[in-house]
Amino acid sequence: MTHHLKLGLLSKVIHGVSKPDPLFGGVSVPIYQSSTFAFRSAEHGAALFAGEEKGYIYTRLGNPTVHALEECLASLENGVACLTTATGMAAITTTFLALLDQNSHLISTASVYGATRVVVEKEFSRFGIRSTFIDTSDLKLIRQHMRPETRILFIETPANPTMAITDIQACANLAHEHGCWLIVDNTFASPVLQNPLDLGADIVIHSLTKFINGHSDVVGGAIIFRDENLFGRVRRTLINLGGTMDPHQAWLILRGIKTLALRIEKSQENAMKLAKFLQNHPLVSWVRYPGLENHPQYELARRQMRGPGSMLCFGLKGGYEAGRRLINSVRLFTLAVSLGGIETLIQHPASMTHAAVPREEREEAGITDDLIRLSVGCEDYEDLQADLNQALEKTAL
Ligand SMILES: *Cc1c(COP(=O)(O)O)cnc(C)c1O
Repeated sequence: MTHHLKLGLLSKVIHGVSKPDPLFGGVSVPIYQSSTFAFRSAEHGAALFAGEEKGYIYTRLGNPTVHALEECLASLENGVACLTTATGMAAITTTFLALLDQNSHLISTASVYGATRVVVEKEFSRFGIRSTFIDTSDLKLIRQHMRPETRILFIETPANPTMAITDIQACANLAHEHGCWLIVDNTFASPVLQNPLDLGADIVIHSLTKFINGHSDVVGGAIIFRDENLFGRVRRTLINLGGTMDPHQAWLILRGIKTLALRIEKSQENAMKLAKFLQNHPLVSWVRYPGLENHPQYELARRQMRGPGSMLCFGLKGGYEAGRRLINSVRLFTLAVSLGGIETLIQHPASMTHAAVPREEREEAGITDDLIRLSVGCEDYEDLQADLNQALEKTAL
């Protein structure tokens, strides 16, 4: 796979799967829909179990189609190995369970994916795992909260839905100084725009459900490593806990990946134009997009990302009520949670995903009542602008 390190991203996503199927030369990786694999003899079975011979035993422990996806993802993130999981949450929980013990402490970005925070605070706390959620774009704050028992610094950058950027390289140095691992949830940027392992992170996590699969039809997760030892450790936990990937799911994601770079290119171009359009719109009070010079970490984003991506948020002058009216008035934009699909999605966290969170807590995480989040897709730009414009006009009524 090493030759892929030298390829450009458009080539890498297409040729990420190492070779045609050895049996019949199929250009697409076959779906090995089998739960178990026959041994040639007792000795062959023993050698496979002992790890003396390469091969497959049982799909929870490994499967050729799943393995093809893992090789492809390891290559895209410049890692040594990858494990795929049933969902993005399985990738996160498996990694935490593999690396944390009773009384371990974890520091995380405050505005991480909602379920990540819930699982740490409500489930892992029952096993004595402690956590601190802070604004990780402030390095001083991270340093202040480091404890001798801190094992993991977990960051999400750009963060959801605030688009705050955390300095990956500085966090890697800080984590290593304190003897802990840096884990980056790279779902928002995708490997096309950001490679945290190159900046010193120990592990990268992806929800494959989002940009990587890209068609809003499959869920999945991945854990990618810079170090073989960590890979071995997390792999043991994964196959014991059992949150592994199914071969059919892996095949669909492999198909989605082939257009990843193309999709990111088009959706990012649309997002940049929409951000500028919104910035000049009289009914919009602010726009937060890493591609705009007024983003608080514009320079940092340029340094650690290859492009600003296709996620953005903005504020409506009319506040909460205008937000509700806007999302009820769009026609082409789909009103839905999730992100990273080819279709443009719009959501108003205060009246939807975060409606159950008390207003004060919402505001603390940067989720103000006027905030609208867009996951920009690959439609014709003119159609997106026209739809958003007609919906914005209705917020002025
Ligand atoms: C969606 C998402 C997850 C969780 O992934 P699932 O596939 O839904 O389990 C984790 N992190 C981020 C940033 C996400 O957007």
